[in-house]
Amino acid sequence: MKFLKQLLPRKLKVILKKIFWFGNSYYCNVCRSHLRLLHPSGVKSNLFAELEIIGGGYSQHDNCPVCLSGKRQRLLFMYLEKTGVFTKKNYHVLHIAPEEAFTHVFQSCADIDYTCGDIDTERYPFCRNIAYVNLTEMPFADERFDLIIVSHVLEHIPDDAKALREIYRVLKPGGDAILQVPISWKTEKTFENFTITSEAEREKIFGQKDHVRIYGADYTERIKQAGFHLKLVDASELKNHLRNNKILVDDREKIIVGHKQQPL
Ligand SMILES: [Zn+2]
Repeated sequence: MKFLKQLLPRKLKVILKKIFWFGNSYYCNVCRSHLRLLHPSGVKSNLFAELEIIGGGYSQHDNCPVCLSGKRQRLLFMYLEKTGVFTKKNYHVLHIAPEEAFTHVFQSCADIDYTCGDIDTERYPFCRNIAYVNLTEMPFADERFDLIIVSHVLEHIPDDAKALREIYRVLKPGGDAILQVPISWKTEKTFENFTITSEAEREKIFGQKDHVRIYGADYTERIKQAGFHLKLVDASELKNHLRNNKILVDDREKIIVGHKQQPL
């Protein structure tokens, strides 16, 4: 069976999954599937629940069984569609730690120059051109990209200020960076302590073994300090645009966008 699965082309696999998981309970706007269920995801963490961390922790109904997108990918995809990203021409996109479902869509857009990047390139066999990218020292010229997607990456990077400055550097004036992180809006100040290095301690203090901080509301200041103009887009705004209540997202989530302004 496993051998047979490997032989099937991806498009056929997707069709078979759509038939198998077909139902009327949910809709995935990323892979456009009608679904009978969503799979659970995340780790059960009291810390995440206590601090109301958005974009982290356990969720009973989350992942699409066809494309694996969760709530936060569905919301981000709403934003990308609403802003017309997939219909742009001569448009340069950098996607860090790429979500597979998004990559397939971007790679099917003939007029988009799409680059995937990560520090661990082996993890992304679905990317046609994956670049080795250390976010704190990117191998790209200044002002190269119109859009940079960095979703749930900065919470892993000790020097996030440097990473934000690098993202700003390689972004074109007028361009946008999507800078999603797990965040507790009710916590004023970001909590980080670089003396905590063991996985067990990090899990206890930051809720996940590979996180180095918990972002609070002052995350927006870090974005501004790197030079960006901040834009926050509420989930409700995106949901109203789509008007499909079968698309499950986290209603508390905001799309966090750093805009690089054109010089006056
Ligand atoms: Zn899906």
